[in-house]
Amino acid sequence: MSLDLTRCPDCDAPAEVEWRAVMESTDGPVEHARLRCLHGHWYLLPVASLADRAYLER
Ligand SMILES: [Zn+2]
Repeated sequence: MSLDLTRCPDCDAPAEVEWRAVMESTDGPVEHARLRCLHGHWYLLPVASLADRAYLER
């Protein structure tokens, strides 16, 4: 089990990665993640776009 946290693109609150899935795109398979933040926003984004928003030590 893993609790994967990042930041909400909208309100910058901590957001949980609910699931990840690989989706086909024109450039090939891209891993996407579904986020849900503390305020109820949710997003489906490419995982690569989360890299610079990683909610890690600080
Ligand atoms: Zn939010």
